[in-house]
Amino acid sequence: MIKDNLNSTLKLSKEEMQQYGYKIIDHIVEHFENQNSKKPVTMASREEMDALLTEQIPDQPTPANEVLDFVMDQIIPHSNIVSHPKSYSFVPGPSNYISAMADTIATGFNIFSGGWAASPAAAELEIITMNWLLDVFGFPTKKGGGIFTSGGSMANLTALATARRIRCGDDFSKAIIYLSDQAHSSNIKAIKVLGFKKEQIRIIPTDMEFKISINKLKNAIARDRLEGLQPFCIIASAGTTNTGTVDPLNDIATICEREHLWLHIDGAYGGAAILANTGKTLLNGIERADSLTVDPHKWFYQPYEIGCLLVKDHNWLSSTFSEKPEYLRDIEGNESEINFYDHGIQLTRRFRALKFYMSLKTFGLNSFRKAIQYNIDLAEQTEDILRRSSHWEITSPATLAIINFRYNPIGQHLSEKELDQINQNISNKIVTSREALLVTTILQGQIVLRMCLINPRTTIEDIKDTLEKCEIHGKEELVIIQQSC
Ligand SMILES: *Cc1c(COP(=O)(O)O)cnc(C)c1O
Repeated sequence: MIKDNLNSTLKLSKEEMQQYGYKIIDHIVEHFENQNSKKPVTMASREEMDALLTEQIPDQPTPANEVLDFVMDQIIPHSNIVSHPKSYSFVPGPSNYISAMADTIATGFNIFSGGWAASPAAAELEIITMNWLLDVFGFPTKKGGGIFTSGGSMANLTALATARRIRCGDDFSKAIIYLSDQAHSSNIKAIKVLGFKKEQIRIIPTDMEFKISINKLKNAIARDRLEGLQPFCIIASAGTTNTGTVDPLNDIATICEREHLWLHIDGAYGGAAILANTGKTLLNGIERADSLTVDPHKWFYQPYEIGCLLVKDHNWLSSTFSEKPEYLRDIEGNESEINFYDHGIQLTRRFRALKFYMSLKTFGLNSFRKAIQYNIDLAEQTEDILRRSSHWEITSPATLAIINFRYNPIGQHLSEKELDQINQNISNKIVTSREALLVTTILQGQIVLRMCLINPRTTIEDIKDTLEKCEIHGKEELVIIQQSC
């Protein structure tokens, strides 16, 4: 195997590269084949990880296979398996093999996806896939545009930087931005990164269904105008991370038109649902956004990292982000040949469009449609099961494949505090058992269990099995409470 020729040119022989690469593929394929029988949860303290991994920067070479074996044995197993069928929490990352291999190609050829001249086909593929997405979301394909980012957070940041540039120009001292108390934290982060003050953010309460209150939104805008401030942007959620709730997009779009506000829709979680019939109905109005975040590494089943920002007018991006430094003058090219470094924050960018392209071509959009509809239906089936049981209560019904519920057996008359404790402990026990990743969230002051069911390989049997285990833990907790009074 690899011996002395790990030298200062950082090269391996052809045979060494092949042997090494095939071994890695074998590991990845084994993982795709056998992940269901592994445990989705891992737990390790900083001390344990330090003990395992701490070492000085190595001056001398180590045999390549030795390093690889160590990584496969000691490093890779210490991560949660977010593509596991019983990984229900946060937003799972179901991924797919084609895209994983596409990323390998993009990295293997180290394709620079910053400017047209460096790789015309990569830029063209980003334009083509962006047009597919513009079309899917009802945005104009000629005038519209977009860019792939590392994820939803960066897409939101890029969107808000654009909104501010286009609507406020250089002076944004009076600009006010509106979002609901269920909007994703990355929006607040982006607003802060952009240098807005806390006083420029209006967090609008949501109603009992977790939708932004239109009345309160209108009140806030009117009040700000009376105070001489400059309302400039509303961030609407198309699928909140907590409950999958879609804000009333058409009502918000109408307010934005009337008040001349920028409408940014954060569809990082829920956007992909437009491919399913139920989702399409819920997302009605999404096409009225000025800018829209979607996150292919969530419900478009892509491996990390790929987020996406779509805008109604591609010129908005170039007029926000293009600088003309002298060292890039030779590659500027003509206008139709897009330099994506002019459309966003990054100059050097990996070739993200490739995995999106290859997976869509290989599986076909219909497979994605079916998978997404399956996920939505699965959450509704789960809701049925929970409603028919005397142990469970639904806190937020199945919406875009997310459901929130809690253990609250009929006839027990438990206090809110006891219910919080029981449900927290159910989650703690199930996670500690490593059988399923099922954590809590807080809705209207209650601790509840939350399932996000966007893995197309999760079956109703997986869910029944997890719920049975939760019920056993619930009963144990109930006994503990009864004994203590
Ligand atoms: C996940 C999420 C984000 C952030 O996206 P990342 O890809 O994690 O950066 C933003 N908004 C919503 C609604 C999300 O669910």
